[in-house]
Order: sequence, then C-alpha cells, then structure tokens
Amino acid sequence: MSARRFNVIVVGAGPAGVSAAKSAAGVGAKTLLLEMNPRIMAMKPCGMAVSKATLETAEVEASPRLIHNEAYAIVYAPNMKSIRLHGTGYLINKTMLLQEIACQAAERGAEIHVGERVLSVRRVDGLMKVETNRGVYEAMVVIGADGYNSTVARCLGIKERSEPIPTIQCVMAGCKIKDPHAVRFYLGNEIAPKGYAWIFPWNERVAEVGIGVRGAPIKPYLDKFIKMFEDELGRAQIIDYRGAPVPVGGVISEFIQD
Ligand SMILES: Cc1cc2nc3c(=O)[nH]c(=O)nc-3n(C[C@H](O)[C@H](O)[C@H](O)COP(=O)(O)OP(=O)(O)OC[C@H]3O[C@@H](n4cnc5c(N)ncnc54)[C@H](O)[C@@H]3O)c2cc1C
Repeated sequence: MSARRFNVIVVGAGPAGVSAAKSAAGVGAKTLLLEMNPRIMAMKPCGMAVSKATLETAEVEASPRLIHNEAYAIVYAPNMKSIRLHGTGYLINKTMLLQEIACQAAERGAEIHVGERVLSVRRVDGLMKVETNRGVYEAMVVIGADGYNSTVARCLGIKERSEPIPTIQCVMAGCKIKDPHAVRFYLGNEIAPKGYAWIFPWNERVAEVGIGVRGAPIKPYLDKFIKMFEDELGRAQIIDYRGAPVPVGGVISEFIQD
C-alpha cells in the first residue's frame, strides 16, 4: 500500500504542535497532526501559568471553564524583598487549552491521529517519509514538535540541545493560601540553586508548587521549600507529583533542515 501524502506533518500535540497544525491547515496546507498519547492532553508537568497575550495569540477565549484563576506575579529575591510585576495573567486548564487549539486545527482541515507514535523520519527522494506504529506517510515538510527528547530531531541528526535542568511540579490540595491571586516566584541559591521555586494558586485550597535547580539534588530542596510555608502548605497533601527536564540556555541555532 502506498504512503498517504500530506503537505505538512506535525509530530507531537503539545502547545507547539497543536499551534503549528492550526497555522499550517489555516493557510491551506494538507496537514496531519500525530500524537503518541491516546488523548490530546497536558501530560507534561506544567505550572499552567500564562500571560493574557498567550490566549490572545492562540485566539482562545478566557472562558471560566478554561481559567482556574486570574493572578498577578510577585518575584522574591533571596533576601525576601519582592517586586510585583505589572498586569495579570491566568492559571489555566492546559488540557482544555490544547484541546481548544486542536479543535481550531481540525476546523481548518487538519487531520489528527492520537495514539500514533512516530518511530522514524527519513528524507527519501526529496520527500520526508514518516513511519509510525500504524503506518507510513509522506510530506514536503515535517515539523518536530515532539518535545525535549524529540524523535524527529534524533532521526534527522539535529544534535544541538539546550542544557536540561530537572524540575518537580506538585499539585497540593488542602492549602491555606493567604493571597490566592498572587503567583509567587522565589529566587536564590538557598531555595533553588541556579533555578527558582514557585507557588501558583488555583484558589485558597489548591496550588501548584514546584522547583527547578541546577547541579544539585532536587527533592531535598522541594521538601525544604514546602516546609518554609508551613502555615500555608503544612496540612496540604500532594495529589499530583511529576517531574520533567526543562531546557535552558537559549534558543537552538538550527531550526530548519532542508
Ligand atoms: C515543571 C514544569 C512547569 C512548567 N510551568 C510552565 C508554566 O507555568 N507556564 C508555561 O507557559 N510553561 C511552563 N512550562 C513549560 C511548558 O510546559 C513547555 O514549554 C511546553 O509544554 C513545551 O511545549 P511543546 O509543545 O514544545 O512540547 P511538549 O509539551 O513536550 O509536547 C510534546 C508532545 O509530543 C508528543 N510526542 C513526543 N514524542 C512523540 C512521538 N515520537 N510521536 C508522536 N508524538 C510524540 C508528546 O506526547 C507531547 O504531547 C513548565 C514545564 C515544566 C517541566
């Protein structure tokens, strides 16, 4: 059976992938979006804090079903002096945001396959050949939006990678957050060596609490950070505990291969 042909194949339905599929389909390209998970959802741990501009760019309405909370941001220096940043942003339900952008992609004509993992990408006779666990496709353009451990990048020999720093992100329930409309960032080597820690409340009772550090074991710093806020987090329980590498160190120089 011959491979089905598309103009653009997008690998990965995270924020980058659903947006790329929407844009490609929006200009009339015959587009296929492939996601290995059985559902388009926020699998990757994420604080889910976004600026208002993020939703405007995504052309997604800030509806109550999408927004956990509207909040302003406070950044704390190591000596606990703080500044409040201008404006407000949102704590969102990221799964709903991804699904809404995927819906826009579908409305523009993109074909979406979930539960389909890309195994390899090769250039054959001037076309890109994409092999998955379910079939083989061809396209003029393949967009690798498959995250830090990108299969697309590996297959095409793109070696340049930013340094990954470990992060842990928890959702804590049963908190007593004093100001549920303040998203808080904490800097300093005592709290998070060469990284930062955060408390992002959904409301008084539930908050995302996380940390990223560089060159140090991360869990003891998370435990210490939670203890620092005994009055707000002391009786809370962790109901979601996940980690992921976050690439730091700037944008890679090679985005496109011919
Ligand atoms: C702890 C933590 C907290 C964060 N907090 C925030 C925050 O508050 N606000 C914010 O804006 N950002 C935050 N981020 C960053 C944000 O999560 C990422 O920048 C964003 O998810 C990257 O999107 P992406 O689409 O590039 O990749 P990803 O979100 O990694 O998506 C990649 C997709 O590709 C799929 N995939 C992978 N391999 C294959 C394959 N072979 N075949 C098919 N599909 C494949 C995956 O299943 C996934 O759906 C946080 C990150 C972490 C780790």
